[in-house]
Amino acid sequence: MVDCFSAPGLVPLESAMEQLLGLVQKTQQTEIIDLEQALGRVLAKDQISNLNIPPADNSAMDGYALKCADGSVGASLKMVAKVFAGHPISQNIQTGECVRIMTGGQIPTGCDAVSMQENVSANGEDIIINQTVQAGENIRRQGEDISVGQSVLKSGQRLTASHIGLLASLGNQNICVYKKLTVALISTGDELKKPGQTLNAGQFFESNTYTVNAMLKRLDMNVLDFGIIPDNLELLSETFAAADSQADIVISSGGVSVGEADYTKTVLEKLGKIQFWKLAIKPGKPFAFGLLPNSYFFGLPGNPVSAMVTMHQLATPLLRKIAGEDARLPLRLQAKTCEKIRKRPGRTDFQRGIYSFDESGQLQVRPNGAQGSGILSSMSAANCYIVLEQQRGNVDVGEQVLVEPFDELLR
Ligand code: AMP
Ligand code: MG
Repeated sequence: MVDCFSAPGLVPLESAMEQLLGLVQKTQQTEIIDLEQALGRVLAKDQISNLNIPPADNSAMDGYALKCADGSVGASLKMVAKVFAGHPISQNIQTGECVRIMTGGQIPTGCDAVSMQENVSANGEDIIINQTVQAGENIRRQGEDISVGQSVLKSGQRLTASHIGLLASLGNQNICVYKKLTVALISTGDELKKPGQTLNAGQFFESNTYTVNAMLKRLDMNVLDFGIIPDNLELLSETFAAADSQADIVISSGGVSVGEADYTKTVLEKLGKIQFWKLAIKPGKPFAFGLLPNSYFFGLPGNPVSAMVTMHQLATPLLRKIAGEDARLPLRLQAKTCEKIRKRPGRTDFQRGIYSFDESGQLQVRPNGAQGSGILSSMSAANCYIVLEQQRGNVDVGEQVLVEPFDELLR
């Protein structure tokens, strides 16, 4: 593999993404689960309907089913039956007859319209039409939502509430999905402690495994936390080997920037094939990718916002692909900036921003606070990235910029 660590210049995000997506394969492991457990899982088989929905023509209203030829104003019709939802009748309705019908009730043979009950007057067993009835009025047609043989959902779809509802309406009690991926998390650095531990001089609480873990939960992945590993070759070797044997993906944070890369590099080069990338993005320049004996490896930078941005922008599309999910484009919108934004050409910036609507309903955005790669507080108060193109320089008030609202991983 090319060692991008020593390659000249920075690699644009798009080309890194393209190359990395080519190096990961979707999982082959599937399982059958109960539909009730399917929220957030990734469908592993195309779904073709073997049912019509609705199964038969039925009434969209409480009213009277009739022949529309009989449905002119003033006509008097004899009510010959009642139809409730779930209780169809076999009677063939004749000219001059009508049927009392409830919403969802199956349209009897011979009827081709339903007059809503507000548009008729009841007169004992007869009804009088007060408003002309059109052919097909208030009838929900057989198969108008879904018809037999129709492709309903594709493999690779991550399932949401409406997908699950759709699968239920097609009668699926069980569903075939890709198995959940297991991700091992490793934090590296002598200076780090876990919340709950005691800090010594020069130490602070680590946050990266928490942010990354939270994002992985949104991706419905299992997480194995290998904790904080000191900057020690032997311990790092043991931990990476253990993580590789237990997980589909190993994600570490810290130890991939120039100063420390040798540790991770030495350890991972022994274990598998590893590439170190210098990406043209800010925050988040260093990133490592590896093929280990049993797993993929992603090395995130240590700075908390860099870790989040590389996890979100780079690792997540790879994780989605491995999980069997189809590629998706992030939602990016044009907005007017209401504050100056400082930017140097050379890297794509993912600045933390707050978008809102101005008095005229136009989308506007402003950068939110300090943009340093270690300033997590401005990330937590933001609701979007302001994505500034690689070659762009400072941005003036009123200029258009791209806004990427935080998706479900960051909300
Ligand atoms: P490194 O990439 O190891 O040089 O780390 C870069 C910066 O990120 C250093 O200031 C580290 O202390 C900090 N850092 C590394 N790992 C974490 C972590 N898990 N949580 C918070 N900060 C971290
Ligand atoms: Mg470190």
